[in-house]
Amino acid sequence: MPNEDVEEEPDVPSCHVPDCTLPIDVVIKTSDAKYFGTHLQNLESYGEGFPPASLGKRKRVNYMDIEEDSDVLSLMLDFMHKQPQPDLQQLQIKVLVRLAEAAEKYLIYSAISICRVMIGNRIPEAPLEILGYAIKHNYHNIANKAAPLSLESSWNDARRELGASGLILWAEYREYFHSLFRGRLYPVQFHPPFQYAPRLCSEYDIQVNVLNRLFKSPGTVLSEGWKDQQMASVDLEHDMEPCSDCEEGLRLWLQNLVDAAELFPKFSTLL
Ligand SMILES: [Zn+2]
Ligand SMILES: [Zn+2]
Repeated sequence: MPNEDVEEEPDVPSCHVPDCTLPIDVVIKTSDAKYFGTHLQNLESYGEGFPPASLGKRKRVNYMDIEEDSDVLSLMLDFMHKQPQPDLQQLQIKVLVRLAEAAEKYLIYSAISICRVMIGNRIPEAPLEILGYAIKHNYHNIANKAAPLSLESSWNDARRELGASGLILWAEYREYFHSLFRGRLYPVQFHPPFQYAPRLCSEYDIQVNVLNRLFKSPGTVLSEGWKDQQMASVDLEHDMEPCSDCEEGLRLWLQNLVDAAELFPKFSTLL
């Protein structure tokens, strides 16, 4: 018969915030089984919706389990003390997104907007995770910037990051995207004498290069300035005299892609 008195209670950890002199009255256990000593009063004043604390067996402190891991909880608690906010600049993007999610979940207002701003500046680093965050919290601007960059992600990654409802929106968005390209990826009409041997024309490699870039990161076609970038690189790639006949065809083809991209809906119109 187990004896409750011998059941081990973890030692009460001190507050991880340096120089904090507040008494510890709650111990939080993270999903990676780390324990943090902190203060119920701070949890109440700086946030909402923490799980109910249960009184420990020795009645000294309360205990609470949360789903977040120790990386994130440590930052959350930094935001929940009267002290300068932690520096998030060096944070790994995935930790930043998880912190942002926790800030939204527990309504840590001091962290919500700074996380949103920082995430908005780092979209290319994790577009799919960021799209999931933006869909969940209705941040249209962030969703619109992240969605084009998420197009090359795999279905499995999208399913993991976006949840069921986000996944349907993403599939719809990707379908729009494919319909944009269908029928627009025809080869440039090459003029004589290159009509039957386009590889010999200086424009051929350029079209192939544009296509390669397009397939490597398809969403960039939806970004501002894509056409100018392509045009500029077309100029740069002319290591010999452009073929004046076929060059016109190449530019028309690019224009056709750009026109279609301009009709493409912003992700937020699906929300
Ligand atoms: Zn403290
Ligand atoms: Zn030519």
